[in-house]
Amino acid sequence: MTVVVKLGGAPGNAWDGALDEVARTPDRIVVHGGSDAVDHLGEAMGRPMPYYTSPSGVVSRRCDPAQLEVVTLALAGGVQTEIVRGLGARGARAVGLSGVDGRLLIARRRKGVRAVEGGRVLHLTDDRSGAIEAVDASLLRLLLGAGIVPVVGPPAVTAEGEVVNVDADRAAAAVAGAVGAEALVLLTNVPGLLRAFPDPASRIPHVARDAVDEILPLAQGRMRKKVLAARDALADGVGRVVIAGSSGPDPVARALAGEGTVFA
Ligand code: ADP
Repeated sequence: MTVVVKLGGAPGNAWDGALDEVARTPDRIVVHGGSDAVDHLGEAMGRPMPYYTSPSGVVSRRCDPAQLEVVTLALAGGVQTEIVRGLGARGARAVGLSGVDGRLLIARRRKGVRAVEGGRVLHLTDDRSGAIEAVDASLLRLLLGAGIVPVVGPPAVTAEGEVVNVDADRAAAAVAGAVGAEALVLLTNVPGLLRAFPDPASRIPHVARDAVDEILPLAQGRMRKKVLAARDALADGVGRVVIAGSSGPDPVARALAGEGTVFA
């Protein structure tokens, strides 16, 4: 059974438990973001990276060409190398791929990105972010068939060959859909989708596939992308999506056993 495991990159995420599991289980694909690493590198390079909120309430990273360079260095250069190293240290063969490698993630560049600032809607014309249109599943199958763990992260590339940033949760959903994964596990720094964030006791255990839009307003800020990713993946035929906590041993097995918010 193919399972796509997305590792969270915000502060408070743990990777060790998931890497232990991925290293000893066949048919696992790892997808990662790395917002904390991007923030740190941006600050170290003197290019702090602001976020913006769209009119519909989705929080995204402001990504002009200089910031795209920071994203690429921090993710493809930094976070991905660290995950591949971690899997290698556990005895697995892992290969890191950005969406540009082998044209794995083809995206469409977003035109006319809109941001709400001080009550006004601004148009951001220099934004280098995109939405994934296609995933080369054959490359991922080739690696899985050879017993190699693919480790996939942003950026992606457009059909015209332009590099664009993409959201890692949505990328994980696109990868899961393309390979026909049985499950997508989105590990993060909270125990699931919370009805009364940040109260962990308010975890929503289950969301029916036709009720995703109803609970969307509960998912504020960056959690909204995970819920949208869950909706995308289910629409693409993935059996179930679980948003779950990354800490402790066996977080993937626990998520698959229902410890988190299961979308199915
Ligand atoms: P990661 O890097 O782990 O993928 P994100 O920062 O992208 O994590 O998303 C997780 C965050 O979403 C949580 O830490 C929390 O701050 C925020 N969030 C907003 N609304 C909710 C909610 N209803 N339930 C859980 N988390 C929420």
